[in-house]
Amino acid sequence: MEKYFQIFKDSYTGYFHYLWDEITRFHWENYFYGLIAVSLLVWVLEMIFPWRKNQKVFRKDFWLDTFYMFFNFFLLNLIVLIFLSNAAAEVFNDILGLIGLQLSDFELLDVDALPYGLGLLVFFLISDFVQWNTHRLLHRVPFLWKFHQVHHSVKEMGFAAHLRYHWMEPVVYKSLLYIPLAIIGGFEVQDVAIVHFSALAIGHLNHANLGWDYGPLRYIFNNPKMHIWHHAKVLPKHAQYGVNFGISLSVWDYLFKTDHIPHDGRDIELGFEGDETFPQGFLGQEIYPLKTKPHNIPYVRNEDRSAT
Ligand SMILES: [Zn+2]
Ligand SMILES: [Zn+2]
Repeated sequence: MEKYFQIFKDSYTGYFHYLWDEITRFHWENYFYGLIAVSLLVWVLEMIFPWRKNQKVFRKDFWLDTFYMFFNFFLLNLIVLIFLSNAAAEVFNDILGLIGLQLSDFELLDVDALPYGLGLLVFFLISDFVQWNTHRLLHRVPFLWKFHQVHHSVKEMGFAAHLRYHWMEPVVYKSLLYIPLAIIGGFEVQDVAIVHFSALAIGHLNHANLGWDYGPLRYIFNNPKMHIWHHAKVLPKHAQYGVNFGISLSVWDYLFKTDHIPHDGRDIELGFEGDETFPQGFLGQEIYPLKTKPHNIPYVRNEDRSAT
């Protein structure tokens, strides 16, 4: 047990120093100023090329989402994620140790052994695919959908909506990523600045007020014209749990037939059934999934429901 207290302590002092260093010292690969720079860039693009021309620059929930952005990106790490992921790694190693194994025994492929760019690409593809599956789970499992509803409560889309999510979400994403990444072995993909910022920029663009789909590249990369349908309030009959689950890449949706762009989604209604009564503020949204039973939540969002 003492070991876990030590991990707890080291995680927080380590992360606090890291965060302080990020804010006070400007350097290339700085995640704090990187987040601000990517956000400003996409925001300026929204102002120059707005898709919904009458949407305000400070749209509905702009400040709520901006708060979420910094909270989820930094404070959340400080509060839960660093300790959780360090402790989870230790628990996992301890369990393996009991049966006389260690994590490296499971390593099937060490991407560090590949040329750098190729290793990076393999890592990016695998982690994006695992996250695509995790995202589907968030929609399919009622208990998880409660948490994911926070992200789907966005009624007016803009870049900052990207990081509106409940703190449980990254816990789920990171836990499910842990094992596949351990099997592959090698660097932590999120630690690589170029991958981190590419994913951040694509995610911001997916939610931005921009009518873009990148032409033929839309079959590879997720994009605003595709992701808006993921947020549609009414879903098609054949896909009652959702469509367009892509995170950075859209290719998984095309491969597994979960893609759906029936027409230009610029003005479709966003949200889910019953979102009128969903809490509007940060604290209410953080508490909501914890105090609401899954079966009390309107869950299926398909066209049948609206017909009956
Ligand atoms: Zn979703
Ligand atoms: Zn989204």
